[in-house]
Amino acid sequence: MKDLQQLVRENIWLLPPYSTARTQFSDSDIKVLLDANESPFNSPYNRYPDPLQRLLKTALSKIKDIPIENIFLGNGTDEAIDMVCRVFCRPRIDNVVAIDPTYRMYKVRADVNDIEYRAVSLDEKFQIKAEQLLAATDENTKVIWICSPNDPSGNNINREEVAKVIKSFEGIVVVDEAYSDFSTQKTFRSELYNHPNLIVLNTLSKAWGCAAIPLGVAFASKEVIDIFNKVKFPYNVNTFTQRKALEMMHHPYQVFDWVKMIIQSREIMMESFKALPVCIRVFPSDANFFLAKMTDAQAIYEYLAKNGFLVTNCARIHLCEDCLRITIGTRRENQALMALLRKYNQ
Ligand SMILES: *Cc1c(COP(=O)(O)O)cnc(C)c1O
Repeated sequence: MKDLQQLVRENIWLLPPYSTARTQFSDSDIKVLLDANESPFNSPYNRYPDPLQRLLKTALSKIKDIPIENIFLGNGTDEAIDMVCRVFCRPRIDNVVAIDPTYRMYKVRADVNDIEYRAVSLDEKFQIKAEQLLAATDENTKVIWICSPNDPSGNNINREEVAKVIKSFEGIVVVDEAYSDFSTQKTFRSELYNHPNLIVLNTLSKAWGCAAIPLGVAFASKEVIDIFNKVKFPYNVNTFTQRKALEMMHHPYQVFDWVKMIIQSREIMMESFKALPVCIRVFPSDANFFLAKMTDAQAIYEYLAKNGFLVTNCARIHLCEDCLRITIGTRRENQALMALLRKYNQ
């Protein structure tokens, strides 16, 4: 890896460390808050949230087995994705490399920040060789984006190839593990200590069932996390998101049960799809959704919507022509979807 200072934009590197009156003292010492021009009325809405989300990070640290100093929390994973762009990439000079197809937010945030985005096609099995990604880089490539399990294809990207990219690339490698709870593949979190250029993303929006309170997680070296903390909006995660997420951390077994149920339903749904006359192919999935190639994705998509069922039409996505992406719902929802599809064209 290059020196972190070489990778970070100079203006960001030079920012002073983040601090407020409240982060300088421990909570137990302070009894009366007259520092932030808050109202003394309307508790608990009157108080700013903890900018460093310490209670929540403590709980998350235990569940994910990662020290607090290696955790950044954001207003959704999308904040962490935008943060990576802003911290490392000089607009109109630097570029990022990503697998294609993948989660569209990597490109959206690159476009917003005026950063060149280089898409490298996966093969027909939605896999890639490390050499292909590395070949797309040059001296101004700051970041390589890898999503595993990948969205919208659903599969894990071959672990050895991802490991090779992390080991060989001189810049930052982001592995987005938004769907890793649904996969049996080992997470890359444990590799953080061997690879200071690695950033692993997680979210509470999928397996944890908390999309209404967007909370994204980035695991990285302490040096990278410290930079993120000085760039972020001070109160980027509001009090109620912090509280609800903390409450979720107190009963993770419920989440593990949900995940088990979703995986069971996924297997049933994929088998049922394979038996549909309008389904040409079902791609393997390690996520809470799967990709299916249909005889006419557009018409089937419209038919389902007309009957009140929304799925994702991937018709315009590279390598996903005539594919629908189906999220796993409750058993009842899944069965109703299958009943509709069996009636299609009859
Ligand atoms: C859904 C999803 C996320 C989650 O984003 P949030 O902003 O945390 O809701 C992140 N990455 C991928 C690949 C996703 O599909």
